[in-house]
Amino acid sequence: IDLELSLVSMVTRGELYFTGFLNDITDKRQFIASLRDTLKAAESANRAKSEFLANMSHEIRSPMNAIIGLTDLVLNTLLTPEEQRRNLEVVQQSSQALLEIINGILDMSKIEAGQFTLESVPFTVRDQVEGVCEALAVKAHQKGLELHCQLAGDVPKTVEGDPLRLRQILFNLLGNAIKFTTSGEVGIRAERMAWKGGGIREIHLLFSVTDTGIGIPLDKQVMVFDSFTQVDGSVSRRYGGTGLGLAISKHLVDLMGGKIRLESTPGQGSVFHFSVCFRMVEEDRTGEVIPTLAGLGVLAVWPSATGRACLQELLEANGARVRTLDGIETLAAVIRAEEPACNLLIVDHALLGDLISLLDTAPREGRPSPNSLWEDRVLILTPANLGSGNLHGLDRFQHHAFLKKPLRREPLLKAIDRLLGRLVEPATEPGPRAVLRREPHPLDILLVEDSDHSRQLASAVLEQVGHRVTVAERGEQVFELLQRRPCDLILMDLQMPGLGGLETTRRLRAMAPLAGGCHPATVPIIAVTARAQAEDRELCLAVGMNGYLSKPYRPRELLAAIAPVVQAHRDRILRNRLADPPRLRPPVASPEVQAGLRQAFLEQVPALRDVLRRALEQENRETLLRLVPELRGLARNVGAARLGAQLLKLRGKTEGEDWTETRAALQEVEEEFDRVWNALEGTSRDA
Ligand code: ATP
Ligand code: MG
Repeated sequence: IDLELSLVSMVTRGELYFTGFLNDITDKRQFIASLRDTLKAAESANRAKSEFLANMSHEIRSPMNAIIGLTDLVLNTLLTPEEQRRNLEVVQQSSQALLEIINGILDMSKIEAGQFTLESVPFTVRDQVEGVCEALAVKAHQKGLELHCQLAGDVPKTVEGDPLRLRQILFNLLGNAIKFTTSGEVGIRAERMAWKGGGIREIHLLFSVTDTGIGIPLDKQVMVFDSFTQVDGSVSRRYGGTGLGLAISKHLVDLMGGKIRLESTPGQGSVFHFSVCFRMVEEDRTGEVIPTLAGLGVLAVWPSATGRACLQELLEANGARVRTLDGIETLAAVIRAEEPACNLLIVDHALLGDLISLLDTAPREGRPSPNSLWEDRVLILTPANLGSGNLHGLDRFQHHAFLKKPLRREPLLKAIDRLLGRLVEPATEPGPRAVLRREPHPLDILLVEDSDHSRQLASAVLEQVGHRVTVAERGEQVFELLQRRPCDLILMDLQMPGLGGLETTRRLRAMAPLAGGCHPATVPIIAVTARAQAEDRELCLAVGMNGYLSKPYRPRELLAAIAPVVQAHRDRILRNRLADPPRLRPPVASPEVQAGLRQAFLEQVPALRDVLRRALEQENRETLLRLVPELRGLARNVGAARLGAQLLKLRGKTEGEDWTETRAALQEVEEEFDRVWNALEGTSRDA
């Protein structure tokens, strides 16, 4: 034991005495040692924090830089549409990267606060695994890596669990594998684990993510699972990343009742294995593999051993006979010896040139036709980042098709079917950019949103398809705006200064119908909010909202969120028309002339209606009065007498002072327009 000796001297009757104390100081020593450890830990945490901050700052600033710089470029310089598009694509990717970082940080803090919950829904294992590989394929192929995705035959088709979180783990592990590998192969493999005890309805799957990259030294293998830690700060700055991915993955695996571990040799590569526990689902036998390729002989030439194994597994499971070769030389040897017995050749794009020269020069003594059956049909495996236009000499083959790597089951089987002429549907080319269609029955939308930019985005999207948008910058304004003008839909932000979206909705739902025809208690309200946690949705629905959309959103997502309201609106209009169809008495004229007049009505009316509505919004009497005769002319041409009368009434009201009455008259005109339109469209179609 550690002792402390203290001595005190004293003189008594001329003699010197000493009193000694021996103290056991083990506790004190331990206390000091523990203080020292704490200090060290604090220092290292502090260092880690600084490193994390430096890293995070870098990770956030780089995409931010691209976003700010490139938007500036697009706004302030003259660029061709292609250049603009390219710049904006980078802006989009950078924004996506930022969003991922933010989601990572949120996940981590939720996990650390113990507030993380998992979903449990049935999902297809193959879709998730292949989906992750597909999403990362371009990244892998740009670096010249082979990417594989393999599911053992015993993995069930459907299980019950949290597909998004499984995807998140796979995404991070495969992302790391690609990031830290410069040559060779990366891939995911899934298999079923032997029964580990636990409930009978539980199933344990083992996923392995393999790479041939820089590897991780033994002494760092435990620490990479800690948050914000990376093997080497300077190295990871080169590769990018915040050091959160593995920490989140480990927590998710823990939550899913599994374990994650890693094997790695520096300079050779790493394998991350993780197990997860899912619930078994009654197997759906209808989706089982039917041996659609029975009787088909396939010869596959691909240098990658894993690739060959994947191909073999997939094709044999569908009944094909498969022979695999590792390169053109082996193929040459085979051809020299015999005519291969197969009716389909699969070849990696890298071997295509060699294959063509071999087929052109191979000696074929005793064989009459140089173009024998087996080389008629060729399926070429191409990397995800390479267009098929880069390949030459293909006219040598009677039939050829391309398949983007990594191998995925459905696309592979489809490509083979197409090549064999069993499927005539054309290969899908990336079409022109989708155009947003104008909505024939636009909605009046009240957008309640305090942020300028969000307002601008939402209005732009909605107006592009023809909806009419009124904005309120805060909750308080909503009530007053609704008094003045009813709306078909409210898009509601949640967090606003003053009255927030939840409280505004609560008050609206408790209100009686308004004089202008609005029913605040029932008007559809959809939350559009940056509060994106699962419980936020519940909150919105609980106060009586009808839908929920989290920011950031893509334009299509906004339109999809309001689609049910649009549909209901359309149905209502349609019912209205069917109940009361207009009687059209077109002027006496030849059928051609009548058709021309109908056409003119259909073409000109939508734009004029837009102007009419806008004029009313701005209470612009002159424009209204100028438009009415023009519209009456068009109505007369198609014999829409009731519409003509209503337009006349509209003119009368416009000349008066009361805008409420004018508005009501316009509403009648609008409805009658819809009826006439519908009747005319029907006639044009029948004609
Ligand atoms: P993030 O995933 O948050 O963007 P990150 O990839 O750096 O950043 P983690 O996924 O947690 O963070 O990985 C932590 C560290 O572990 C990496 O920085 C790297 O040093 C090491 N590492 C992870 N996977 C591999 C791998 N496959 N090969 C080599 N090193 C790896
Ligand atoms: Mg990572």
